[in-house]
Amino acid sequence: MTPFFKIDKRIEDASDKALSMCKEQFDTIGDIAEYNQLKVQKAFIDNGISETHFVPSTGYGYGDRGRDTLDKVWAQVFCAEDALVRHNFVCGTHTLATALFGVLRPGDNMLCVTGTPYDTIQGVIGISGSGMGSLKDYGINYSEVALKDERPDLEAIKSAVNSDTTMVYIQRSRGYELRPSLSVEDIEEIVKCVKKQNPDVIVMVDNCYGEFVQKREPIEVGADLIAGSMIKNAGGGIARTGGYIAGRRDLVEKCAYRLTTPGLGKEVGATLGMNRELYMGLFYAPHTVSQALKSAVYISALFSVFGYDVKPKYDEKRADIVQSLGLENEESLVAFCQGIQSGSPIDSFLLPEPWDMPGYDSKVVMAAGAFTLGSSIELSADAPIREPFYAWIQGGLNFNSAKICALLAAQQMLDKGLLKG
Ligand SMILES: *Cc1c(COP(=O)(O)O)cnc(C)c1O
Repeated sequence: MTPFFKIDKRIEDASDKALSMCKEQFDTIGDIAEYNQLKVQKAFIDNGISETHFVPSTGYGYGDRGRDTLDKVWAQVFCAEDALVRHNFVCGTHTLATALFGVLRPGDNMLCVTGTPYDTIQGVIGISGSGMGSLKDYGINYSEVALKDERPDLEAIKSAVNSDTTMVYIQRSRGYELRPSLSVEDIEEIVKCVKKQNPDVIVMVDNCYGEFVQKREPIEVGADLIAGSMIKNAGGGIARTGGYIAGRRDLVEKCAYRLTTPGLGKEVGATLGMNRELYMGLFYAPHTVSQALKSAVYISALFSVFGYDVKPKYDEKRADIVQSLGLENEESLVAFCQGIQSGSPIDSFLLPEPWDMPGYDSKVVMAAGAFTLGSSIELSADAPIREPFYAWIQGGLNFNSAKICALLAAQQMLDKGLLKG
């Protein structure tokens, strides 16, 4: 199949079978990518983007046209009134925290309706840790509605929302859980349900891993505020850091007062030459997300051919870029991650080993050979070494590159006598 890598015939055959299984999904993904690409392109054209928008600002960054116009382009793409797109959001958690602290005030009530949120957000809310200045430390109350059979429990949500509820918080992606992700249609149902109970409630969506996976985004179905990371979907594999918030104008303004200071808000912030890659990242995002999705679907198909449990299945409708594989034991998780790493363009020579990562109750093994450290729109795999022995895989800047990594992962498992089937 390739003169560059040695892949066993058995794996090649499985790959051919997997590819034929993926055909329909690949067509769907291509269709969504085209739609989203044209949506992005129209926003660039409508806003008259030119070289002058890439000019770096310094100091206070007053009157940075590139920065202000980027917010407008972003708002148009996500059907929002306004947006706050900045390289100086340090990660997704920081962006989400800025939105939460920006909008909520002491005495307010935040209700998460998709079970317990993503690990790092728990510290922001004050579910875990104390004395670090969490929302809880500032007198913001938190409660949550558990999922029922892994799905949003609309009945329970309906009875949990009342006239005191300030914010309903939705996590679109599964993160590091095995539950299905929420589709935009699921979000629509939740929005309808909560706004009926209390029309003033602010619906905020953690949009990480969800951008450009479907044709519509959460604001189009009634969400008030969304936020995400630039080293995931929205940065297209080009942006090296940053985050975005988009939504209702008054809410985005409050977020800007939190990011900088009350009174200054969006008017300041030097871009130092970062605008070009933020624009280019958005331009690439629909395509890059399609490559990550194709990679996920292919890996799902390939490992189901070998007989492993995969979530989601190759032909299931996708709502984020995350794929998980039930590899059944520690040795297989490690071999899989080592195989992925060995095919990565960067740091291929490193050998991932399980280690005690701070904040985790079991050892974790990770593969990440990326141009941007920690980027998970680039192919990465990680697995906590514990029952039920699942690996989580995200990203893939281009399908051909991710495909060889997957084949090398299977080869590594085969070489160690671990591959099923
Ligand atoms: C990645 C992620 C976050 C946090 O983003 P970081 O960039 O890792 O801080 C929050 N929520 C979800 C669902 C995520 O996938």
